[in-house]
Amino acid sequence: MLRHKLRHIRHILIVFLVLIGINSLAGEYKILLINSYHNTLSWTDSLNYGFISTLKQNKLDFEIYVENLDYKRNKNINYQNEFVSYLKAKYSTLEIKLLFVTDNDALTFIESIHDSIFPNTPVVFCGVNNRYVFQKNYTGIIEQVDVKKNLDLIAQLHPNIDTLYCVVDRTTTGIILDKQIAESVSKNKYQFSTVTLTDLTIDELIKKVKGFEKNAAILFLLFNQDNKGEYFSYEEALDSVRKYAKVPIYGTWGFYLNHGIVGGEIISGYEHGKQAGELALKIINGKPVENLSAFAGNTKMIFDYRAMKKHKIGLTKVPKGSIILHNPLEYIKRNKVEIFLTMTIVVILLVIIYLLIIINKSGKKHIEIHKSYNQELKIKNAQIIESLSKAEEANNLKSAFLANMSHEIRTPMNAIMGFSRLVLLKKDLSRSEIDNFLNIVADNSQKLLNLINDIIDISKIEVNQLKFNISKANINEIVRNCFNIAEVERARLEKNDLNLNITFSVNTDSVIVDTDADRIHQVIMNLVNNALKFTEKGSITIGYDIQDKWIEVFVQDTGVGIDEQHKSIIFDRFRQIETPLNRKYGGSGLGLSICKGIINGLGGEIGVKSELGVGSTFWFRIPNTCSISDANTSKLENSDLKIRSFENKSILIVEDNFVSSKLLVEILKHTKAELILSNSAEEAIEICRTNNKIDLVLMDIQLPGINGYEATRIIKGIRSNLPIIAQTANAMSNEKEKAIQMGCDDYVSKPYNFQYLLSSIEKLIT
Ligand code: ADP
Repeated sequence: MLRHKLRHIRHILIVFLVLIGINSLAGEYKILLINSYHNTLSWTDSLNYGFISTLKQNKLDFEIYVENLDYKRNKNINYQNEFVSYLKAKYSTLEIKLLFVTDNDALTFIESIHDSIFPNTPVVFCGVNNRYVFQKNYTGIIEQVDVKKNLDLIAQLHPNIDTLYCVVDRTTTGIILDKQIAESVSKNKYQFSTVTLTDLTIDELIKKVKGFEKNAAILFLLFNQDNKGEYFSYEEALDSVRKYAKVPIYGTWGFYLNHGIVGGEIISGYEHGKQAGELALKIINGKPVENLSAFAGNTKMIFDYRAMKKHKIGLTKVPKGSIILHNPLEYIKRNKVEIFLTMTIVVILLVIIYLLIIINKSGKKHIEIHKSYNQELKIKNAQIIESLSKAEEANNLKSAFLANMSHEIRTPMNAIMGFSRLVLLKKDLSRSEIDNFLNIVADNSQKLLNLINDIIDISKIEVNQLKFNISKANINEIVRNCFNIAEVERARLEKNDLNLNITFSVNTDSVIVDTDADRIHQVIMNLVNNALKFTEKGSITIGYDIQDKWIEVFVQDTGVGIDEQHKSIIFDRFRQIETPLNRKYGGSGLGLSICKGIINGLGGEIGVKSELGVGSTFWFRIPNTCSISDANTSKLENSDLKIRSFENKSILIVEDNFVSSKLLVEILKHTKAELILSNSAEEAIEICRTNNKIDLVLMDIQLPGINGYEATRIIKGIRSNLPIIAQTANAMSNEKEKAIQMGCDDYVSKPYNFQYLLSSIEKLIT
């Protein structure tokens, strides 16, 4: 179908070119082309095209007329007379200078009318076969199919075939060709016999071809008309047959090439047309026709490489000088320059592609690096944003802390300064009023001291400098002591709807653990004070539980409770929950973070279970190094709050500060002890040397001249068993440990914890 269309396109193109030729030749020299057949018949078109293109090369001024007898399609020409009249009518007035006729029928026809319509006009013919004698004024190209050469060729290329089938029809040309075959075969000896396939319908022909097995070949000469008179173009007939042929097909005309034939001694219509054109030019240029005899047009051995390959015919087998169509090697040879250029371009393109790939790869690499930088940048950015927000949060916390701190310091200071002044300035105050005011001063001083201690502790925790004094500590005793203090505090706060409970997991008085008793005391008191702060009614239970690896202490309350979101942050420093109770009772937001620092420092853990509106249980656990014993009973419980009697005992107070000295006198005077005062280390040493009655020394450490530790060393040198209690306001360092190391028996810090001071004296003096 496609091929059919292409053929049509080609024909149209040829006609178009002919017409272009005709137009361009318009002018003086009138030439009439008379075809036996019709335009679009490839043979006729190729003759015309060859003829006209040769004339065109000469640049002469032509005018071409074309007429077709159309004998292929109209064998019974009863219109001949009409056609003659038509030619007469058309051309008698036109001066036709040359007639160009194609094929035998047109030649015979023109011979019959020549003198009447075109007298003396020279005639150039083409495609004429089996005629060798021509009238005067006639010359041209004889179309002589070289049947012999083709038979020789087939015999040479196929020595093993036994039959050669020759396809010819019953057209004028077909009959001539058939005769030529018979002549050739009779004159030459071939290994095969020839069978002429003629007088067949196309279907019969196809059927026969289908049956041809090996040992045969086909020489396809002509099949323009079947025995029923149906017309086929040259190619059409060949294409129908070729599809079914298993044996090689040879042909004699150029138009069979590219339609599946192996090849043959080929006549080219175009070449014959050209040769005829050259004769015409000579006539136009004045050469007498008599001097130009007709001759056989040239033929060429032409093969189709694809069909050769199909039938396994090697290139070396075909006659030398043959033209091989579609031969890849030939193609390369013919198109050396183009192929070289194409290859060069391809190589250049490949190099460019390779370079582009490399550039692309390195680009990708860069993009990858870029991406990873971007990723890193994003991470860093996120980190910076996080740090910034943390810094901002810390900053906000610090600001809030400072504001709170200012409030926490100024409030007790205000009370201390205000009430002290009142006592000083108002001379008319009653004793009870003075006591009341001074109680307020003492209370607030304690608060201030607690705050200062908290700040010192948190600073130590921050720099990991919190030192622990690990010794055998009685948890039972510590918890009980905290409970006692809590009771006093509850009473002071007048929380009458609040019950305090104490619960121990073991029924014993003594649970001894290696830990820092003071710090554990501090933590429990912190939790207890918070519970007192945040519980209005219900209960507070203090207790502990001994587990496998831990001693767990807890403070449980039925207070306001803590919501989920705040549970995790209350152990951070400066954190407080915005509540009315917080505003009422104040607080630095340091307590729980100090507790956490202490408990973590002691190798333990701290946490809270709480429900908003229900209550909280703060717990901590420290490693269980516990030994349970009944031997050690709590001494603090009984000794804590009672008034001691040190009657008949002498206590030396070494204190250079008048107020501190006076305070000590006030604390101790109810004990009925004899109090001896000294304001320097030198004097105190002297007293101890000379007065054997001294039972205990309260030694200030920061003294003018010899300091308290040095004095202790000297006194211990004089009386080694004289108890000395160091008392100092220096709470920054691990002073108690130092005091013990320097030879003191105990240590009390300023401001004095009265009960502690008294119980310590009691322990040492008796
Ligand atoms: P503060 O000195 O402000 O009490 P803390 O660190 O001791 O600081 O406590 C932090 C916050 O935790 C308190 O401000 C309070 O909001 C909350 N909190 C502590 N203990 C309790 C408790 N027993 N019941 C309810 N809330 C508590």
